[in-house]
Amino acid sequence: MQRPLNILWQNVRPNSDLYIDIFDVSSHRIHPNVTKEMINQMYREIMASTELHKNNRAANLSREEGKAKFAQDKYFEAMEHFNGSVSFAEPGTEELGLAFANRSSCFFYLNMPDECLVDIELAKRHNYPGSLMRKLDARIVKCTELKADEHFKPGPHDIWEPKLSFNEHKDFAGVADCLKIRKNDEFGRHVITTCDLKIGQTILVENGYSIVPARKNTGRSRCLYCYKACMNFIACKNCMCMIFCNEGCMEKSFHKQECNRPAALSRKETFDLIMRMIFNINADFPDVDALNELVKVLLENKKPPTDLTPSQMNFCSLFQLAHNHEKLSANQLTCLRSATGVTLNVLMQYDEFSLKYRSTAHRRFLQHLILHLFHVAEHAIELFEYGQDGDGERMANYEQRQFARGIYPFGSYINHSCVPNVYWFNVDGRLICKVIRPIKKGEQIFRSYVPGHHSFEQPLELKRELDERYHFKCECFLCTSELWTPLTNEVNLSRDPLYEFGLQPSAMTIKRFRKLTRSEVLSYEKKAIEFLEKYDRFHPVNDTIVMQNNLQIMWNVLASRY
Ligand SMILES: [Zn+2]
Ligand SMILES: [Zn+2]
Ligand SMILES: [Zn+2]
Repeated sequence: MQRPLNILWQNVRPNSDLYIDIFDVSSHRIHPNVTKEMINQMYREIMASTELHKNNRAANLSREEGKAKFAQDKYFEAMEHFNGSVSFAEPGTEELGLAFANRSSCFFYLNMPDECLVDIELAKRHNYPGSLMRKLDARIVKCTELKADEHFKPGPHDIWEPKLSFNEHKDFAGVADCLKIRKNDEFGRHVITTCDLKIGQTILVENGYSIVPARKNTGRSRCLYCYKACMNFIACKNCMCMIFCNEGCMEKSFHKQECNRPAALSRKETFDLIMRMIFNINADFPDVDALNELVKVLLENKKPPTDLTPSQMNFCSLFQLAHNHEKLSANQLTCLRSATGVTLNVLMQYDEFSLKYRSTAHRRFLQHLILHLFHVAEHAIELFEYGQDGDGERMANYEQRQFARGIYPFGSYINHSCVPNVYWFNVDGRLICKVIRPIKKGEQIFRSYVPGHHSFEQPLELKRELDERYHFKCECFLCTSELWTPLTNEVNLSRDPLYEFGLQPSAMTIKRFRKLTRSEVLSYEKKAIEFLEKYDRFHPVNDTIVMQNNLQIMWNVLASRY
């Protein structure tokens, strides 16, 4: 099969500075099946789709769903529906006040009287019906009594605040200074450590360059700027948009650009991610020609100049992530060109782009930059929360739920292995990496691209996903050694007392685990780590995998409000 020629960052002629028009590629052996007229037609159809307006009927429906969950004592789930109601309710109507009041009762039963009082105040300020006011006043009294009680401990528990176990990297915020990006033929760019690492150490607490809410998640449980959970969220006054901690988060978010946009543009994750990246890039580089010069340097695989700002450095890092442009089929390329065209049309609606990118050379540059960012977006990392409702559940049965997708300038360089040596999870919008196997100086850092539990059970499924999503054939120890699986049943490490002690949390309910003192949690963590260190030479076998999962669940629960 004849592969299409690479069109990304190609010049019209060898000695020209002008990039080719990716919508006119007849000279590139590609069928010119994406015409400007087709793209304009697609764009017109998208823009003609209805906007999502505030709607009290939807607000009431969502509130009824919330009440049903509330009746089952599922306060977190109930709050998500009440948050939905807050964002759907028409301004100036009592629906908004009712939604805040319902949410206040969730906070009350979650033992969060301060948040409860804030919501009661919000309800009173937003048309809460006077005839029901007695209920709210009674709740204020109860909150005050609760707070005055000497045995009162606010819930849900404190979130464990992640902290790097090392000094910070000089070029990358939130990255341990012992981590370095290296390049070789086998792995391309990858991350190694310059000192020995121990299990439990935190090597990454990185903020995302751009984060978008997951499409699956209706975005009703977290602030859409900082991604904190369980706050006194407010909603935009104009649109059915999702929620923010306060005006400050709303102001700093990308919402100004997205408010009241056509429904067809809403919640398309990759499109949103590209838009946010390109707005960030545009803000970081006021001069298009300077940006173009920098891109040329990066395309030649040279080191970027040293006088860049941290945010500009992040752009360089993202730009140099590996891409598979040459491996695309003609069909895949066609889809990418259409998507690039639509994105370009949308961007041209904004003055910051239409006025800045005026010349043909600049517009061609923008075409290629968008196309390039579609490849960068393949490196986006899914953000998960510990998504279990009801305190009675056992720790071992926890479930993860995706709430967002983000692009991380450093974390995205960590390669996959089915036998990873770091575990990654999220606190708010931050990407946290903790060491789960001893790593020697000079060794590569590996995480698993597939979140959640690890076992030997689904290697085929995993391989297919890696291949489809990342065009990647895993050649880790597990994928290349066929004899390993039978051996796992012969090694029995569970007679070691460390095993029993370290595993105790997985038999507890979440409620019980949350009530442990800090030193109790640390003692379980210590035994689990000791066990994993002692038997690392056997890993991966069932007993070490079980202990790794147990440790990861502990970290997840500590890092989550749910
Ligand atoms: Zn926020
Ligand atoms: Zn809005
Ligand atoms: Zn593998």
